[in-house]
Amino acid sequence: MQDLFDENEKYYEFIVDNCSDGIVIIQKGKFVFANKAAIKIFGAEKENDLIGRNAIDFVIDNEKEKALKRMKELIKNKANIPLAEYKIITLDNRHIYLEVVSSFIIYRGKPSQITILKDITSSKRINELEKDIVENKRQIEEIQYFNNLLKEFFTNISHELKTPLNVLLGAIQVMERKIKCNVNDYCSCGLDADNYLKIMKQNCYRLLRLVNNLLDLTKIDTGYSKLNLKNCNIVSIVEDITLSISKYTENKGINLVFDTDIEEKYMAVDVDKIERIMLNLLSNAVKFTDEGGEILVSIKDLDDNVLISVKDTGIGIPYDKQQVIFERFGQVERTLTRNKEGCGIGLSIVKSLVNMHGGNITLNSKEGEGSEFIITLPVKIIKEEKVVENRCENKVEKINIEFSDIYCD
Ligand code: ADP
Repeated sequence: MQDLFDENEKYYEFIVDNCSDGIVIIQKGKFVFANKAAIKIFGAEKENDLIGRNAIDFVIDNEKEKALKRMKELIKNKANIPLAEYKIITLDNRHIYLEVVSSFIIYRGKPSQITILKDITSSKRINELEKDIVENKRQIEEIQYFNNLLKEFFTNISHELKTPLNVLLGAIQVMERKIKCNVNDYCSCGLDADNYLKIMKQNCYRLLRLVNNLLDLTKIDTGYSKLNLKNCNIVSIVEDITLSISKYTENKGINLVFDTDIEEKYMAVDVDKIERIMLNLLSNAVKFTDEGGEILVSIKDLDDNVLISVKDTGIGIPYDKQQVIFERFGQVERTLTRNKEGCGIGLSIVKSLVNMHGGNITLNSKEGEGSEFIITLPVKIIKEEKVVENRCENKVEKINIEFSDIYCD
């Protein structure tokens, strides 16, 4: 029996010593045995470098508690511990990942823990690298996407600058020629000065709109754009601004309708910004709706929120572009919008201004049938002495600027 036992022990020793996984035996938290692979894993030169050392000392700080708990449970319950992962610091100061599985044994007559260790650092690093590659790829695609948007933006912005400048230059040249032909009498030389001045003014507004949009965008991005909240009647603000663009809808033969289920709703808003939002949505609706179409602006009171809808029967927006248009410089391709003017920053400003009010904007649209932009604004009241009536400061100027790329007799 003894011979057989001695022989078996020799086999076990051979297997344990030459096993490619690390095997250690721990008694009272200290190493009492380590095979060749374990010596290598822990960065030691010989078994004695490990014997007597505290196993927990190798585990990184934030995993020590977990490891200690598991070791105590193993001895207490005389059980196995399922597979776990640990990060350790080796004797030669490397940070490596181990996969460990432990079991209770009696070793040299004492309760002990036998642990099999696998160095999984390489596969872990490969996993991390794979994740990095996926993340880097995503970032590159995002950068490419924004680069393309920027390229399109620069093309559009050059076009936006060039068109009004060419018109201005053309008008100036015609006036110059006519004036030279008869300095004292504009009318007799056939110069319709009023018309040329109107064209020049409209194109100055177009340039002003572009510059204003760019400035607003920068202000929003840098956090300089702040809300000037006042308690006011949102219904009259929306109604007034809607009706004040009627000359453009009439001129284009579009039916403009305003509908509300309430007469008054007082809430804290920044009037200028609400007007800006409405003018942008309305100018888009006029731009993209043909003669005979309809624009319906409506307000619904949902007690805690107010819904403002701007709905048109225009060309609609393809499904795959419905998110893009709210992004910086996002436009539906020019061919689809029949080369309507703009450089695609209006709606991203609208979205930011709505979000600043704590609200959101959504779009329902079907190509060829029309679009509906719905703004949800939370109803808040701020503490202030008096309610502000809807002012119409510079309203005409604001409309002229926002509608500058829509022709009106
Ligand atoms: P811009 O400043 O160029 O007017 P916007 O951000 O206001 O740009 O609009 C972006 C794009 O969304 C427009 O170029 C147009 O393609 C599309 N769009 C916006 N509103 C409408 C609408 N009511 N009907 C159809 N297309 C629209």
